[in-house]
Amino acid sequence: MTRTPLPDLSREVVPGQPVMLAQGELQMRPRRRGKPPQHFVDMSADERKEALKELGMPAFRAKQLARHYYSHYTVDPEAMTDLPAAERENLANRFFPQLVTPVKTQLADGGKTVKTLWRLFDGASVESVLMRYPGRVTLCISSQAGCGMNCPFCATGQMGLKRNMSVAEIMEQVRIANLMLANGEVAGGPGRVNNIVFMGMGEPLANYRAVASACKLLNAPQPDGFGMSARHITVSTVGLAPAIRKLMEEDIPVTLAVSLHAPDDELRNELVPINTRFRVDEVVTAAHDYFLKTGRRVSIEYALIRDINDHAWRGDLLGQVLVAKGGAHWVHVNPIPLNPVPGSKWTASDPEVEQAFVEAVRAHGVSTTIRDTRGSDIDGACGQLAATIEEDDNHRQDRDARVARVEAIAGDGKDS
Ligand code: SF4
Repeated sequence: MTRTPLPDLSREVVPGQPVMLAQGELQMRPRRRGKPPQHFVDMSADERKEALKELGMPAFRAKQLARHYYSHYTVDPEAMTDLPAAERENLANRFFPQLVTPVKTQLADGGKTVKTLWRLFDGASVESVLMRYPGRVTLCISSQAGCGMNCPFCATGQMGLKRNMSVAEIMEQVRIANLMLANGEVAGGPGRVNNIVFMGMGEPLANYRAVASACKLLNAPQPDGFGMSARHITVSTVGLAPAIRKLMEEDIPVTLAVSLHAPDDELRNELVPINTRFRVDEVVTAAHDYFLKTGRRVSIEYALIRDINDHAWRGDLLGQVLVAKGGAHWVHVNPIPLNPVPGSKWTASDPEVEQAFVEAVRAHGVSTTIRDTRGSDIDGACGQLAATIEEDDNHRQDRDARVARVEAIAGDGKDS
C-alpha cells in the first residue's frame, strides 16, 4: 500500500460568494433564530384543540384538517368542501400559513426531474429535487438553510449555516411534491412520493429534533402523517455519531446513509471537518450499531474526487475498515464520481481509477455500486441552486454528483 501525501485541500473560493467559515471551522449553531409562523404540522393535539377553541370551532375540525393536509395534500380552503364555507378561510389562515414559496423551478430529464428553490418566511433559501424513475418517485429535501459542516468541496458549506428548518417547513416540501404529483403536474402522470432522502441542504442530524419529528410524521399512517414506509426514508449524515445513536433509539428505523468520503482520519479531517470531533472509527462503529439495532443496511457515500480520495489503497482501506466492524453484509458502498467542472480543482476521478477503487472495496466482499448521474442538465442538490440564484450562476463544483448520490441511496442498495 503506497500512501500519498495530502494534496492542497483548502476551500476553493466561489467567485462572488462570501466565505462564511474559515478552513476546518465548524458552525454548530445557526446564525438566525427567527421562528416561522405556527403551522398545523408543528402543533400538538392540545394546541390544535386550543386554537380551534379560540376560533370558536369544534375540536373535531382538527381531524378534518389533518385529512386535507396529509391525505389530500391540500391547504386550499376552496378544496375543503366538508368544512362550513364560512369557516374555511379562517381555518386555513390560522393553521396553514404559507411557509415556503417557490422562487425558481428547473426541469430536466423531460420534466421527470424537478428542482425547486424555495424562499422561507425570513428570506432564507432552500431547495428540493424530485426525481421520477420507472415505478418510483424520490424526493430529496432540505433540513437546514445552509450548512455548518464546511466540507471544502461543497458550495453549501461555504454559505455557513443560516438556520434550522422547522418540522412544518420540512414537511411542506413533501406535501407540495405530493400535490403536484397527484394533480399530474409532473411528467409521467399522477403518482406520489415513494422515497424521501434528507440529502438537500444541510446536515439533517444537526437539526435533530425537527428531522426526527419529520421522519415520524412521514411514516405515520394517513391522516396523521404521509404513511410512508420507514425503509424508504433515508437520513444522510456526515457522521454526527452521538446523533446516529440517538436516531437508533427512535421508534422509526429509517435508512441511514453516512457520507464518509475518506477511510483515514488524516484526509477526512480536511475533507469532512466534523471528523476532528467524530473520527472514522467512531462514525463507522455508530453506523454498525445502527445496523445491529434496526436491521437496516447502512449506505456509505463516497464522493470520488480526482487525486484527492480516489486511490486504490484508500478503497482497500475502506473495505478493511468496514469489514472489521462486523463483516461485509451490513453495509453498501456508493462511490459517486464528482461531476467534472472545468477549472475547478475538485473534479471527478478518471473512470479507470474509479474502477480500481471499486474493485479494491469489493475485494473485501463489500457490495459497491457506482451509479450514473441523473439530471445532467440541472444543477445538483444541496445548495447549488440556492447559490446559483444568489450568486448569479457562479458555481458548479459537484452538481450532478449530489443528485446521483441521492439516486444511489434511493435505489435501496439492492444492487451489488
Ligand atoms: S457536503 Fe453536505 S455536510 Fe458537507 S458542507 Fe455540504 S451540505 Fe454540509
